Amino acid sequence: MQQAEIAYIGLGSNLDNPVYQLKQALLKLENLPHSQLIKYSSFYHSPPMGSQNQPDFVNAVAKIKTQLPPIELLQVLHKIENQQGRVRTERWGPRTLDLDILLYGNQQFQDNILTLPHTGLYFRAFVLYPLYECEPELILPDGQRLQDVTQHCVKNGLVRMQNESKDAE
Ligand code: AMP
Repeated sequence: MQQAEIAYIGLGSNLDNPVYQLKQALLKLENLPHSQLIKYSSFYHSPPMGSQNQPDFVNAVAKIKTQLPPIELLQVLHKIENQQGRVRTERWGPRTLDLDILLYGNQQFQDNILTLPHTGLYFRAFVLYPLYECEPELILPDGQRLQDVTQHCVKNGLVRMQNESKDAE
């Protein structure tokens, strides 16, 4: 097993009681093999990307420490998405659960199935603001301060909801 790395996971849902979907997903992240859930952000309400003819999303970010290599982590996340009834239809369409690897250590990597950092990280308010809540001092793999990137990203209707956040650090 490799050395543990810090990874940040983006969670999103806009179907079948999104708050419940995120809570269920967090319970599963608490039980990830060879991993530890360290903390997670509040839940945020955000208008949909892509088709506007779908419900608003609920989003959050979780910080984990894991010994799973990135591809294995992605496979486990897909399994959780599938367990929660994810059906892949249109791009940016409605979904019961979306789990993305936003960052995996300082890795910068791209192949057919995985891009690190996640391509949406730098311009999606619903990713940047919850990540910033978890880790205000974070320096991104390209050397930029998360604080600077977040400040330059318009909120686009993003609203922080009830404080569900947890911090086990
Ligand atoms: P999504 O619709 O967000 O579930 O993403 C579709 C595909 O994006 C997945 O099947 C992954 O292979 C790919 N992908 C590429 N980079 C990432 C990443 N950092 N985290 C999650 N999925 C990724």
